[in-house]
Amino acid sequence: MKLTQFYRNGAAILGLVTKKGIVDVPNEAKRRRLPAPATAMEAINGGPEAFRLLEDLQEGAACYTDAPAAPVVTGMDKVLCIGLNYRQHAIECGLPIPEHPVVFNKFPSTLAACGEEITLPKDYQAYDYEAELVAVIGKRARNVKAEEALSCVFGYTCGNDLSTRDLQLARGGQWVLSKSLDGFGPVGPCLVTADRLDPSALEISSTVNGEVRQHSNTSDLIFPLPQLIADLSRHFTLLPGDLIFTGTPAGVMHGYPADQKRWLKGGDRVEVTIEGIGTLWNTFCQEE
Ligand code: ZN
Repeated sequence: MKLTQFYRNGAAILGLVTKKGIVDVPNEAKRRRLPAPATAMEAINGGPEAFRLLEDLQEGAACYTDAPAAPVVTGMDKVLCIGLNYRQHAIECGLPIPEHPVVFNKFPSTLAACGEEITLPKDYQAYDYEAELVAVIGKRARNVKAEEALSCVFGYTCGNDLSTRDLQLARGGQWVLSKSLDGFGPVGPCLVTADRLDPSALEISSTVNGEVRQHSNTSDLIFPLPQLIADLSRHFTLLPGDLIFTGTPAGVMHGYPADQKRWLKGGDRVEVTIEGIGTLWNTFCQEE
């Protein structure tokens, strides 16, 4: 199944992505007098029962929506990120290949929807993109073994770990600050449930205004997702809805030679495409 969320009266509401359009889950459930999760977080917390219900609603649905997209999941506890998790990306950053996962975070307030226009604040210039496979946790996980880790995943989406390189470097390597500006964590276009996708070998790419900048495969991850979940859950409890941005491949602007750097600017369009999920796209505007 492919879940998404859309906005109604300012609130994020659960939708299902189908060939016919986006099913408005609460309205479809009301029409059939069935209980149903109203948000992606409720769908995740609802377990197998909610899953079956959504599969039923998808069949013969009549209530569709074309309301603006919301981030595919909202209301989570944590947005975790892994740095330098592709060998060539670590090399382009001039940093050693990590021996353990490099963990940092973005705040849930960074989340943006597919298609949303993201503002580039005027205080900085070096805005960069990072295409990433994002895992969405499906159940509480503490001290999980790598062999069992994927059973804790609800699904997958595309993410863009937007980064402010001049802030990241000028203030002595502050990753959280430079990556947590409002809207700097777009996710989408849908949340593909884990029964539908094997995350171990997916093509991943990004384009800026149609020009390919990154192209790799999740099989190149230094620390694959099961290992990441095992490592993270050894340190703290992962909760349903938590996101894990798994790291970005080579080709970010930060890795380009100084005389070839073209940072993101107003009017740009960035797309992140992952095999089996789809394309997350966003446009940018410059703060006046
Ligand atoms: Zn990243």
